[in-house]
Order: sequence, then C-alpha cells, then structure tokens
Amino acid sequence: MKLNPSQNSRKYIFVILAFLWFHTVSAQVQPSLGGSSRIMNSAMEQMENGDYEKANASFRKIIDSNLPIPPEMPYYFAETLYHLEQFDNSANFLNKYLELNGFKGDNYEKAKALEKLLENHLNAIKACGLCDRRGYRYQECFTCEGTKHLEQDCNYCKAKGIVGCSKCVGSGLITRRNVFNIIEYFECERCEGHGRLTCPTCEGSKLETSACRTCQGSGHLQSDKICDHKEEPRHLSQVFNRLKPH
Ligand SMILES: [Zn+2]
Ligand SMILES: [Zn+2]
Ligand SMILES: [Zn+2]
Ligand SMILES: [Zn+2]
Repeated sequence: MKLNPSQNSRKYIFVILAFLWFHTVSAQVQPSLGGSSRIMNSAMEQMENGDYEKANASFRKIIDSNLPIPPEMPYYFAETLYHLEQFDNSANFLNKYLELNGFKGDNYEKAKALEKLLENHLNAIKACGLCDRRGYRYQECFTCEGTKHLEQDCNYCKAKGIVGCSKCVGSGLITRRNVFNIIEYFECERCEGHGRLTCPTCEGSKLETSACRTCQGSGHLQSDKICDHKEEPRHLSQVFNRLKPH
C-alpha cells in the first residue's frame, strides 16, 4: 500500500512527537534516580579499577534497594558478571538490557559484542558434563560417593521390616456371616492371624538398594564453584609421576 502525502506527513509529525516525548521522559527520569545513580557511579568506578567483586556487590545493592534502576545498569552488571565468569547470570542481565533498551541503549554496540563473547562460554557450558546449566561444577554426592545407587533404609516399610496386612487391616481376623446371619470370626489366612506381614520389598531386611535419595540418583550435587570444563586428575600420584624427571 502506498501512503498519500498527507498520511506521510502525519507519520512524520508522529515520529517527531515520539522523539520529543522520549527526551522529556528521559530528562525527567535522571534526577528521580537519586540514590541508585549514586551507587551506580561507585559501581562504575569499581569496574574501572578492575574490582569486579565490589562492583558486583554495588549492583546487587541497587537491585536490593528497590530504587529505580538506571537504564544502562543491566549492561554494566552483565559486563561485571562476565568478568566474574558468571556467564549464565551475565547473559540474563544482557538479555534484559537488550529487551528494555533495544538498539537505543547507549551501550547497544558493546552489548552486542558481549553477547558474542558470551556465546562461546554458554556453548562450552552446554557441552560440558561436569557442570550444571549455569556453569557451576558438580560435586560428588557425599551420600553415595557418586555411585548413584546404594543400600539404604527400605522406603516401603520405613525400615520396620514388616507391613500391616491389607486383607484383615492389621487385625489378624476376618469376619463372615454364616447361614443364620450371625457374624463369625476367622483367623486371617494371609497373615496367619498376626495382622502383619514381612515387607515384600526388603523381605524383612529393612534395607533396599535403590536410587540415592540425597542426589536423586544423579551421583552429584550442585556447588558454587565455577567450572573450567576440564576433567580433574584422578589421583594426585598421577600428577607427581608426570612431574618426575625421567
Ligand atoms: Zn491378615
Ligand atoms: Zn521393607
Ligand atoms: Zn547420591
Ligand atoms: Zn563445565
């Protein structure tokens, strides 16, 4: 569809108005940021000094304070997290930044460059079997020591070795009405009147071999150590052997 001249100029005026509105709004936003832009300034200074741990703490302070978040903050936070090798977290803030500011953000170009840098790291995390999807190294489960299955308390009988008889509901007796409509009691033939049966799962041993409950059978637990995606040497002796002069 072709626009006629009047539609075209109306569209043009609209663009100008939108532009003016955007500038007025951003001019109004600046002073109201107050406290958060003060913390933001110190975070930027910490970044310049290469102190990303401190910058990280400052950015978190802005988030925790519930003060309005400066529009460029998610980018700088993403850059800080990148330096701290929290790649998954960095990608989250970078995506937020691009989503909120689009190509109008002051750091749009830098954000796109960071996105490229992150890609390699995120792919390495995806390809690595030693860390979770956020890039944190798994640690061996301390309960099963990585074996995934182990002998543990029987879950079915709660390690009692016996279960209630379902036929007599644990009473050891069953009732029947005879031909004279009189209730007669009989010993339950399933449990021989004991009301209880040996646990069918553990056969009375109170133990069963099943998926480790600490790690849900995965053999590993999460940690807060950032993964380098490299296999650790199995034994220290192997390292020493390699170091020994031949
Ligand atoms: Zn019974
Ligand atoms: Zn059992
Ligand atoms: Zn386990
Ligand atoms: Zn890894």
